[in-house]
Parts: sequence; C-alpha cells; structure tokens
Amino acid sequence: MSTSRRDFLERSAMLAAAGFAPRTISFDEWEAERARVPAPLRSAGKNCVVGSANGLHADRPSGVKIAYDKIMKGEDTLDAIIAGVNTQELDPEDNSVGYGGLPNADGVVQLDASCMHGPTKRAGAVGSLEGIDTPSKVAKAIMDYTDHIFLVGHDAKRFALAMGFTERDLLTPKSKAAFEKWKADPKAYTPWVKQPPNRMRPRGGFDEQDYYEERGIPWTHGTINMNAVNAAGDVSSVTTTSGISWKVPGRVGDSPVIGAGEYTDNTVGAAGSTGRGESNIMVCGAFLAVEYMRQGVAPEQALVNVMKRVIEHSEKRLLDDKGRPFFDLTFYAVTKDGRYAGACAYEGAKYAVCDEKGPRLETCAYLFKQAERPRRG
Ligand code: ASP
Repeated sequence: MSTSRRDFLERSAMLAAAGFAPRTISFDEWEAERARVPAPLRSAGKNCVVGSANGLHADRPSGVKIAYDKIMKGEDTLDAIIAGVNTQELDPEDNSVGYGGLPNADGVVQLDASCMHGPTKRAGAVGSLEGIDTPSKVAKAIMDYTDHIFLVGHDAKRFALAMGFTERDLLTPKSKAAFEKWKADPKAYTPWVKQPPNRMRPRGGFDEQDYYEERGIPWTHGTINMNAVNAAGDVSSVTTTSGISWKVPGRVGDSPVIGAGEYTDNTVGAAGSTGRGESNIMVCGAFLAVEYMRQGVAPEQALVNVMKRVIEHSEKRLLDDKGRPFFDLTFYAVTKDGRYAGACAYEGAKYAVCDEKGPRLETCAYLFKQAERPRRG
C-alpha cells in the first residue's frame, strides 16, 4: 500500500474515532434535523434602512429616508432601497455612482450593481454596463425577468435596452473635464503596464491619492450600498457604483459580486460594502458578515471581524510595516431583528441610518485610530 493511501486510511480511522467521520443522512432525516434548528433570528417588528454615508443629504431628500418612507407605506424592501439608491445614481454631483460617475482609463463610464431580495431568495447583478444611468434597476430586471444572476458589458446593455431602459451619455461636463485633466497629467496611471506585484501601488494607496489631490485631479473611491429590514422581518440589499476612477477598462469591482458587494439571507440579515473592491472580493465580505451574524455575533463585531479578515488576507504591498492597510473599505449591516452597524479600518467614518428616529449619520466601529493611519513617505 502506498504511504499516502496508508496515511489517508489511518487519518480517516482517527477522525471516525474522534466522531468526525462523514455521515450520510436521508432526505427525511435532514428535514427532521432542520425542523429542530430554530431560525437564527426573529423579527422585532422594526423597520430600518442602513448604508453608506452618501445615503444621507442635508440639501435634498436622503436616500435612506426615501427608502424608509416607502417601507413604512408597505412597499417591498428591495423596491424601497432601489428607489433610495436611484437618487444617487441620477445625481450628477456624485462622481462615484451612475450618471456623472468618473470614467475608466479610456474615458468611458462603466457601472456595476447588484441586489438581493431576502423573501424570494433571488438576486441580480450587472457589470461594466455602459450608457444606462440606473444599473441597480438593471440588476433588479435581471433578477425579475431572467433565470440568471449576472450579465456583463455589451450584452448587459442590450438586455437593458430590450427591457425599455433608455440610453444616455453618462459623462457630465464636470466628469469629462476631470478625465481630461487626469489624462493630461504626465504621471497619469497607466494601468495596463505590467509591474512586479510588489511595486504595484494599491489603487487608493496614499501615494496615488496624495499625488492626485496635490494636483487637483479628482479621484474617487465611492459607491452606495443600502440594506433594509421591515417590520415583518423581510430583508434586502443593493449596491451600485461607477467603481474606482480611471480603472482598467473592463475592470469589475466588488459591488456587483453577490457575497462581496452585498448579501442577504432572510433568516439572518444583510450586509454590504464600499471601498477597495479587490480587497473585499478576496474575503467575500458581505457573505462573511452575514455568516458571522448567523452564528450569533452582533452586527458591529461581525463587521469588525470581516475587516480583520480583510487585513489578514491582504498582500504585503497593501499594508504598512505594522500591518495597517493603505486602503479604505467600509462594511454595513442590518439584522432581521433590526440591529445595525458600520465598521471600517480607521476611526472617523460614518454611515447612514433611517429608522423611527429619522435619518442620520452614525459612527463606524474601527480597528485603528486616525493618528495611526500610515502616511506617505
Ligand atoms: N467598491 C467599489 C469598487 O471597488 C468602489 C468603492 O466603493 O469605492 O468598485
């Protein structure tokens, strides 16, 4: 007998002796087992909307309030939060989402979005969508009218047009001017130049961000995520973005990736994120947050745990010598019983909430003080 086969048999015997042997059960046994497990959380009869800070506005109706009011009128949680993020997608002043979002390195606006509907266990997502200003609605249309979850690029646009969406130039005079300024800069990021991985700066690394800021070149990380629960305990989530500005054409971030940009499980709650998508995809952050909450971890601690996992799972070049990230990433969550939280790496970030106390910003939990944030140099 080969050594590896003998090892395998010995290990299996040890596991069986320790009670870890795989056991097959019949469907009826499985049903009976499931019936004994109570739903992890029960509705507390609370309506609540939680998401990124751009869901709150002082000078116009806030996205979280629009969504909350709809839920109070009995509208579906997903329809409500999609209406909440639509105002941001259509706002030319938000250069990180929808119309007016900063374009890719070719000067083309490419949008990503995804949504999940707890009660029906359905989801939709769209990546690299051009020429349609409300990708969150396209994601919902994919969910509602196809047997698929994720459409991308040119064919996603064809689908949207066939569904009656109207084509529009997504560049505004402001975002076009920003692109031209970026393009004219001699050090404009040339993302297609292959560099050794340890020399690649993180998108959002402070070198690049400072460089752009010093020259007055707009640069953005930004997205809107919204999650909601209603008094019946039904939960939904949505995330929509133009992604990282000046990105490699065709780059898709975390926002349309189910389980990364957002995730909903109607028995537990929902979570979502904004920030460096590549880091979030690596840990399936929204899914992981919901899984922590399923195990009984409170939402704030669940999100902090996810942030820690992100850091543990980051390449060296993305962290300073003390292991603190050079990038930003923020997570948001709501539970079926109406608890909520936001969390990120550095002190100071806010998130938007609306419940019976009205729309407001609350402070994210964090791992590091602002003063500990690594600086360029
Ligand atoms: N998460 C988005 C992305 O990576 C960008 C952001 O939220 O800043 O595309």
